[in-house]
Amino acid sequence: MKVILHLTTNCNLRCRYCYAPAKRDVAMPPETAKKAIDLAIQHGNGSACVSYFGGEPLLRFDAIRELTAYATARARERGSQMHFRMSTNGTLFTRDSLAFCRDHNILFAISLDGDREAHDAQRVTAEGTGSWALLDRKLDLILSYNPHTVATSVITPQTVDRLESSIRYIWSRGVRYIVHQLDYSHPDWTPEHFVRLEAAYRALAEFYLEKVRAGEAFHMGLFDDKLKTHAASPIELGVLCDFGAKKVSVAPDGRIFPCVQFVSDRPDAANFCIGHVDRGFTPLRDELIAKNRSGRPDCEGCALLGRCSNYCGCMNWQLTGKVTATPPILCAHERMLVPIADEVGNTLWDERNRRFMRRHYDHFEELFAYGLD
Ligand code: SF4
Ligand code: SF4
Repeated sequence: MKVILHLTTNCNLRCRYCYAPAKRDVAMPPETAKKAIDLAIQHGNGSACVSYFGGEPLLRFDAIRELTAYATARARERGSQMHFRMSTNGTLFTRDSLAFCRDHNILFAISLDGDREAHDAQRVTAEGTGSWALLDRKLDLILSYNPHTVATSVITPQTVDRLESSIRYIWSRGVRYIVHQLDYSHPDWTPEHFVRLEAAYRALAEFYLEKVRAGEAFHMGLFDDKLKTHAASPIELGVLCDFGAKKVSVAPDGRIFPCVQFVSDRPDAANFCIGHVDRGFTPLRDELIAKNRSGRPDCEGCALLGRCSNYCGCMNWQLTGKVTATPPILCAHERMLVPIADEVGNTLWDERNRRFMRRHYDHFEELFAYGLD
């Protein structure tokens, strides 16, 4: 099992779209974190994962040291594998913390919305100034310790027009693993923004094609994830968003939730508490897992079922208040994105691009043998 430890609610930044609880500086005691780690091993079937989360987890770097040592030792005692992850804004990395992550195999994602204008539109410090320069000056160092650093880029109405310049900036800095996330809950989205977003996605599609044709190795989740659902397997409900089956979030006070989005100040989030590290899981956990797998009534008959992000019960809850109700903005987004991803796939298929085939089709050698080359 994977446990996501909300080590602190505090952060050195004040991103405008942050859904973490208001910055009250509540820290998870090490004893609570250790119980959560034990739970991960106990429910892990021989493989556990600890993910450091916040707020900003690097504010608790001493705790990360202690917990990593604890988790490693406990996993060894119990004959379990142990994996580590971290989500960070990256601005507090030092040589010391980067070396520690490298030496202990802590794989991490940093928040990087793009070029200065895009990043600083949302990601600001407590004083309200942009944080882009803080991260930009650390990027070379970060990548020198972890060339597989993932950049998570949030798209808002304010950054739509900077998507292409942002991907080019991120690429130019050497990042090759890029995940975009739309801030669906942003109040400023309008249909007009979606027209511009579609144009921006088409520009990103051209960028993607350019890099695949050049033989570059990279991952751009925006298209790769959709191409995978076409070429390999559709997304089954309860797999990517499992609602607490194999991945749980632990709040600083030890309460367990199905996802990071429920560790929040929203009053109805408390209804999704599925246990506590002191007492284990409650029956609500199984009820919610089953509910999340029970289908999406709004989507019956849709051709995009299995390719659409409607599987995310946590996102559905965040936007509609219901786990199985699909938000109209998400539906509009998926109906726009999937055809663009498919155009990318069709283009590369028609070009018999070997890198594309190798990546997305297990049986590509067979395809070439039958004259597709
Ligand atoms: S870096 Fe993360 S935790 Fe900190 S304010 Fe931004 S979104 Fe919130
Ligand atoms: S595109 Fe809309 S209707 Fe179709 S599966 Fe997604 S959310 Fe449901």
